Order: sequence, then structure tokens, then C-alpha cells
Amino acid sequence: MSPEALLSRVLFIDLSSWSFHTEERSDLFQERLGGAGAAIRLLEEFCPQGADPLGPENPIIFSVGVATALFPLASKCVAMFKSPLTGNLGESHAGGRTAVAIRSAGYGAIVITGKASHPVYLSITKDGVAFRDARALWGTGRSDTAARIIRSKDGTPGTRTILRIGRAGENLIRYASVTSETYRHFGRMGLGAVFGSKKLKAVLISGDNLIELSDRKRYRELYDRLYDQVTRSPLMQKYHEIGTPVNVKSLSAMGSLPVKNLTEQRLGGSDQLSGEEFARLFLSRRVACSHCPVSCIHIGQIRIPYPNDPYFYKTIPVSYDYELIYALGFMLGVSDPTDVLYLIDIIEQIGVDAMSAGVCAAWATEAMNNGLIDEEMTGGIRLSFGDAKHYLAFFESLARQKGEFYQILGKGVSFAASVYGGEEYALAFGKNEMPGYHTGPAAYIGYICGARHSHLDNAGYSVDQKPEEKFPETPEKIAEELYEEEAYRQILSGLVVCFFARGLYTREIIQEVLSVCGIPITVEELDILGRSILAEKYRFKVREGFSLEPESIPIPKRILELPSGRGEINEEVIRRGIARYKELLEKNM
Ligand code: SF4
Repeated sequence: MSPEALLSRVLFIDLSSWSFHTEERSDLFQERLGGAGAAIRLLEEFCPQGADPLGPENPIIFSVGVATALFPLASKCVAMFKSPLTGNLGESHAGGRTAVAIRSAGYGAIVITGKASHPVYLSITKDGVAFRDARALWGTGRSDTAARIIRSKDGTPGTRTILRIGRAGENLIRYASVTSETYRHFGRMGLGAVFGSKKLKAVLISGDNLIELSDRKRYRELYDRLYDQVTRSPLMQKYHEIGTPVNVKSLSAMGSLPVKNLTEQRLGGSDQLSGEEFARLFLSRRVACSHCPVSCIHIGQIRIPYPNDPYFYKTIPVSYDYELIYALGFMLGVSDPTDVLYLIDIIEQIGVDAMSAGVCAAWATEAMNNGLIDEEMTGGIRLSFGDAKHYLAFFESLARQKGEFYQILGKGVSFAASVYGGEEYALAFGKNEMPGYHTGPAAYIGYICGARHSHLDNAGYSVDQKPEEKFPETPEKIAEELYEEEAYRQILSGLVVCFFARGLYTREIIQEVLSVCGIPITVEELDILGRSILAEKYRFKVREGFSLEPESIPIPKRILELPSGRGEINEEVIRRGIARYKELLEKNM
């Protein structure tokens, strides 16, 4: 069987009728490489215009790419849906074993629609789908408990993944996440709430299909070459040794760390939250997504004392990375690394996106300091930067969604600020809470214009860090550079390759990869395809009400008040960058 043959099947599951069927859709994989290219086409086809993101008609789409399970770092899976947080495109990528499990089960994509009458989980194999009762799992304290129970009941063979939600997803927090393999997540934009709205507690996928290649010799030669480059790369070595928190020290030195709701850009004791310090104090092991030799996932251990038993502890493994340390450490002014790990653990337990939750908590702290909210609204919790104990209680209350304040904050920081005020320091762009880079204007143009409003869309933060002579001369040139990067990343998201490998997967290498997979394509055709996938995403966003017109894009004043790593940020620069990005998107629509 050729690799593309395995990727022609799309599995459709209807939770309302407990039925499923498969369709042959080789067009999604031959012409669009799978991944994001396939997912956006399926989203356009199956998400009716104006659909309620928490209604049965909103589809959940998982999609893998032509390179999945074949090449190093082609380890990610794309999820697409209409986002309950932003009201338009929802896209999230996760590693772990999910992508390989889907391909090994014989599918290129899975589309889930409808709503179950009571909590269920799905068990997906090459033979189809079993619908299992999940009423006993609904409301379990930790999402990994549900996964353990499912694993013990469904002993399926081959590569297996268990995607599941926690209490945040069950309670429809608009930035709830879906966890895969405990340490990886579809974190951003509220996929967990879409699961919850469908009464879908978990999805187990497993398979043991083998991929036969027509030219094994050529494949082996290319694989070995890529593997060799990855394992010799100094950057990958850095990610292996320290993980993504390796960036803490340099961002702090540049004055680019968002601290205490971006009222500061350095935290006293930043070194305590550096990757080196986390590794020294807590690192117990590294793990990797399937087919990745890098192992950038760093697991620390914390000991939690039993309340009434002296000298009794449970030891909890906690996965940490830069974004978690930013959102739950720097943003909340928490400088003790043990406290940061406790906060990461509670976020993992409840199943919520750490960046969104951290930014919401940071905004709430400042809003409380300014008298916009009070302790009566938070259930008696006095928020104060640096006070981890109260943030732990705050996140518990957020997960329970008890009381009007938490229900409003559960819809995102933009929504909360529209109700209570404090818009000038509600740090969200396109309604998605900001990531941890106050590097300069390119980062913010990127957050605002990127299809997912994420730093990963177009890497504006790395443009900001260029030396003066290489930094784009005008805002328009910044936008052009970011736009080209985002278009190129659509190809990586088609395959679906981890963005850490973007330096490895040049256009020429991608061309070779596709050739081995039986898909001849030129470098120029790849560029055209990247722009067309990006245009399709933008078209979907506009269809659902998104606009890059100035009156639709609020820019929180806070980012203009605090100098960034590239100095003061001027609103005019950001506005000109957005206008140019919009032109480029529309030109290719
Ligand atoms: S570099 Fe890290 S995130 Fe990327 S595929 Fe490897 S282990 Fe997963």
C-alpha cells in the first residue's frame, strides 16, 4: 500500500445518532498534503455559516499529513473547529502519539459532529468506532484518571492515543484544552469546550497498519539524512537539554518578558525561573512525541504533602515549558519555581489552556487592584501578584464555574473586560490571550493578523529579535515578512511537521519528502499552495464575522506603555502593518 493510499480515508462520526461511515477523499491529501490544508477544506464543507461553536453542528476535525509516521518530527496532528473563544477559526496542533495513531488506524482525517445524549467516549480502530458510556468518567478530578480507566477497559493493539477533557471542558470554559498522552495538548482556542458541548469525554484511537513505500531505498537515504541533521543541530540539542525554557534568560535580558500583566518586563529573580534552574532542581526525565529524536518535553517532579499525615507525600510528574512558566510564573509575578509547578499541575488537572488562564488571572488581579472586581465576586479570594496559594484556589473556582464572575471570565479576557472594564490591560489579540513575547511591533502585528492569533502563526517575536541591519525598514515590510512566513508554515502544517524543525524542512527538502511519498510538486507550486491554504483560513474567518478593519481590532494600551525588547511600540506602526497584511491576504483570496 502506498503512503498516500492510507491517507485517502476520512472517518465521519455522528454523536447524535451513534453512527459512522468512511469516505475516500484522496483530493485532500494529494492536492492539499493533508493536515491544515485538508482540515480547512473539511471545516468549510461541514461547518454551516454562523454555527454555534457549542452547538451540535460545529464539527471537530482531526487531520494528519503525508509525512506523518514517516519522517523525523512529522509528529503533530491538526485539530480544526469553530472556536468558542474567538467565534471564528479554531485551530490547534498537538504532538504526542495522536498523529501516528490516526494514520496507523488507517485514516487521514476524522470528522466528529452531533451531540451525544449523555457523556460518551469513542474507541476508534481500523474497523470503525465503538461508542462507550462515559457517565462514570464525567466529573473526575484529574483528566489523566479518566485516561487510565479507559486504557484499562480498552486494551486495543498498536499505537494508541487517548484524547480527553477535564472539568474545564465539561463546564464549557471557552479556553478549555484537550489533553493527549498527559504531556501534550490541543491547548488553544477552546477545543475542550467543543468536546464538552458534545458530551464527548474522550477519544481513544489505535492502530497497527504498516506503511509500505514503493522506493524504500530512497526513503531510507532521505530519512537518515534528516535524522542526522536533527540530531547534530545545536538548536535541537538546546531544546533536548533544557527545553523551551532555555529562552527565559535571553528574553529577560532583552526586556521582553510579560510580567505581572505586562506592568513590568523583568521579574526580580528571573533566574529562578530559568530553564537551567528548573532542570537543576526538578528535571526527572525527557519524553518525545512519536517519531521525534529531540525529546524537548521536560518532566519535573514535585512532592505534595498529605494534609494530615506528617512525612507522607505523593510525587507528581509535571511537564513544564516556556509558555507555562510565562503564563503561570512571570505573568502572575510568581517567582518560586515550586509554586509554578503547583500551578501548572492544577491547570493540567482541570484541563484548561495555560496561556489563556494565566492572562485571565493576571487581568483579574489588576482589575481587583483597581476596584473593578472584589472578593465577593471571586468567592472570597484576594488576588495578589506573587501569591500562588490564592491563584491555586482561583483556578479551582474557575474550573467549577460557580458564580457569575467565573462564568464571565470563562469566556475569555476580552469578554470579561467588556463587562467589567479594564480593556486597556486585557491582553488578548483577536480575542485570544497573548503568548509570552513582548518583543516588539512584529510580535503584535503577528498576533493580530495570524490565522490563530498565535506567536506560532508567523513568528513575529523572532523578527523583533533580528539585529538592526536585518530588521525590516517599514511596518509594511514587517507585514510582508510575516505573511510569507505564515504562508510557508501552512505547508509545514500540511505535512504536519513540528515548527521546531522549520529550519530543517526547507522548501527543497519538502519537495524531496513529497516526491518519496509519490507527490511530485515544484517549489513554486508549494508557495502557491501555502498562500492558498492561508487564504482559505482567512476566508473562513471573514465568513464568521472576523475583520482586520481598524475599528474591529482593539489594541490594548498597555502594550504601548511598557517598552518592549525593541523599544517603545507605536500604534501607528502596528496599524500600518495590519493594513498591509490585510492587503496581502485579500490579494490571494
Ligand atoms: S521537538 Fe518537541 S514538540 Fe516537537 S515533535 Fe519533538 S518532542 Fe514533540
